[in-house]
Amino acid sequence: MHPHLEQIQSLRQAIGACLDLVFPRDCLLTSEPIEPDNRFRYLGPKAARSIRWIHEPRCLQCGAPLWGCTANTPTCSHCATLDPAFEGNRSAVLLNGATRRLIHQLKYHQGHYVLHDIRRIICEAPGYLEEANDHILIPVPLHPRKLRERGFNQSAVIAQLISGLATGARTGNGLVRRIDTESQTRLSREARIRNTRHAFATAPGFAVDPNASYILVDDVFTTGATLNACAAALWRAGARHLSCLTFGHG
Ligand SMILES: [Zn+2]
Repeated sequence: MHPHLEQIQSLRQAIGACLDLVFPRDCLLTSEPIEPDNRFRYLGPKAARSIRWIHEPRCLQCGAPLWGCTANTPTCSHCATLDPAFEGNRSAVLLNGATRRLIHQLKYHQGHYVLHDIRRIICEAPGYLEEANDHILIPVPLHPRKLRERGFNQSAVIAQLISGLATGARTGNGLVRRIDTESQTRLSREARIRNTRHAFATAPGFAVDPNASYILVDDVFTTGATLNACAAALWRAGARHLSCLTFGHG
């Protein structure tokens, strides 16, 4: 590291430590004060104990934990109706009070500072980062209207985070969102599903390499419908290896 950068970094750490003394941080979930040596910056010990990392066995398609199941049932009941278009999703954690709060803070309060805790959670998720090794990570895009409103795409931020931690991974903005599905609340459920299905296309100038392995990245896995629609756009463009990584499974 350049000596100047090193000095700046230690200065930032010193300022951060002083600020913590003057204005101690509180847990985003429980409001309990956070000690300087706490594992997370924005989750206190009680909230940290509530984090549920996803271990095996899990659904091979959507990544949901299969509580008490054996290898005889490799997929969950939800996947029977979803019919996933991707080869499998892996989520780091179950979305509960603590992890939902981190994502909420990031998305709706410009809370980039919580990325420190999201990073730590991702690093501790068993087998999670290995999935991204040597893959091209494609974030689920926001519609341009939404991107202007929020100022950043949380899925792109998480994809950057993962690619910085995995070996041989890189990000690519391979998709665009053509239909603003979120502004269509007045449409019928069927019409919204139809629109979601056609909401995504490959970005202009982005060429899919059939020999490359792609991973769609999103902040949360909920119904899987958005990831399915993104996957369909990449299959149409010639992708042959495509799976998903999401931070939380909700
Ligand atoms: Zn499933």
